[in-house]
Amino acid sequence: MNSPRIVIVGGGAAGFFAAITCAESAPGTEVIVLERGPQFLAKVKISGGGRCNVTHTCFNEREFATHFPRGERALISPFKRFQASDTVAWFAARGVKLKTESDGRMFPTTDSSQTIVDCLLNATRQAGVKLTANCGVDVAARRPGGGFELSLPNGESLSCDRLLIATGGCRTPALGQIAVSLGHTLETPVPSLFTFHIATPWLRALAGISVGTVKASVAGTGLHERGALLVTHWGLSGPVILRLSAWGARALHEKNYRFALHVNWLPQLSDETLAREFQTRRNSQPARLIVNSPIAPLPARLWEQLVLASGAARETRWAALSRSTQHQLIQQLLRTEFQVTGKSLNQDEFVTCGGVRLGEVNFKTMASQVCPGLFFAGEVLDIDGITGGFNFQAAWTTGWIAGRALAEPGNA
Ligand SMILES: Cc1cc2nc3c(=O)[nH]c(=O)nc-3n(C[C@H](O)[C@H](O)[C@H](O)COP(=O)(O)OP(=O)(O)OC[C@H]3O[C@@H](n4cnc5c(N)ncnc54)[C@H](O)[C@@H]3O)c2cc1C
Repeated sequence: MNSPRIVIVGGGAAGFFAAITCAESAPGTEVIVLERGPQFLAKVKISGGGRCNVTHTCFNEREFATHFPRGERALISPFKRFQASDTVAWFAARGVKLKTESDGRMFPTTDSSQTIVDCLLNATRQAGVKLTANCGVDVAARRPGGGFELSLPNGESLSCDRLLIATGGCRTPALGQIAVSLGHTLETPVPSLFTFHIATPWLRALAGISVGTVKASVAGTGLHERGALLVTHWGLSGPVILRLSAWGARALHEKNYRFALHVNWLPQLSDETLAREFQTRRNSQPARLIVNSPIAPLPARLWEQLVLASGAARETRWAALSRSTQHQLIQQLLRTEFQVTGKSLNQDEFVTCGGVRLGEVNFKTMASQVCPGLFFAGEVLDIDGITGGFNFQAAWTTGWIAGRALAEPGNA
């Protein structure tokens, strides 16, 4: 009997992990990776600012899954089979050590994504995987007797017994076209992980400032997050904004990225605590200028701008702080309202919300429930995580599970 031929469309993180797992599990199986671009693993190369944030140091599968605005439930059982600790062990077994940063992100100890690219390329070579670049597949048809016929860019066609689609995020519906032509439904793609445009002049003047913990919420929705905030030249970024953009990817898209954002700069303090603090300052430092006496832990420049934005004059001293200005200042500190007028993709990491509908895929094998012999892995699915290594882990996990299933003859 001829050995089965397995084709993997997409030479990214998920495609490579599936190819290596399949070829190592079933030696003798012909495993071919077809990549549209000139380079394999191009996103791995640029990921994490060139360092590749491979995974996150969270070794409980349920907790890990909570970092996925889309895919949380579906990913719990896959993570039970291949989770972050397995990724660490997988790379260690191939000579690549990972280290953990204080926020839980894991990187190769070399701080270079090339280490990960080289490791994956070596592993495919050793496992005998055939790699073909500059080979985009736009049409895949089922053969009447089982298996698939793929149309290649050189006009030739390639047949295979099992097919894995690992083509990455469907930023436009056209990128999910193979899945749709084989009977699948695409959840409409919209961006996730983006930063907010805000034109408020005093905010822009603070570009570069970061605040350790703020609470940010989107008016009229239940969306709210706590975390570090970064002021940029065009508005706001930082973990708290990226998390809001991920959890609110669909809701904010529906608002055309125009909405009111509330920022509480001192979420650890209440209106009453602040009022008491102001009274203490009236008594203890009546002659001091308000703009010159920030409340910790706010940076001095930010405090100054918040005081001025509340309507207090620059020369106001604590003794002269009126009740109404105090009220405005507390409002500003705990409930600054910004008008968001657009978004930018985050430079360090972005992903697509949307993709192949999860209910149409069996997460025990990553096999299609619609088309026999077809499998999916990675961001082509309607799965996306917040920043921190979660998106690669989803690619490794789903790629590994698909690779195992592709290697089993019963899955033809
Ligand atoms: C700038 C940036 C930095 C990132 N950094 C991180 C990070 O540090 N940590 C993290 O966890 N996540 C990060 N991400 C997200 C992460 O890169 C993706 O979630 C992950 O790459 C998804 O893997 P994938 O294999 O599903 O898709 P991809 O890595 O996108 O690979 C899909 C491949 O398929 C190819 N392809 C597409 N269509 C076809 C076709 N029709 N025929 C043939 N080939 C095709 C594409 O060219 C591509 O090479 C980052 C994303 C970006 C954009």
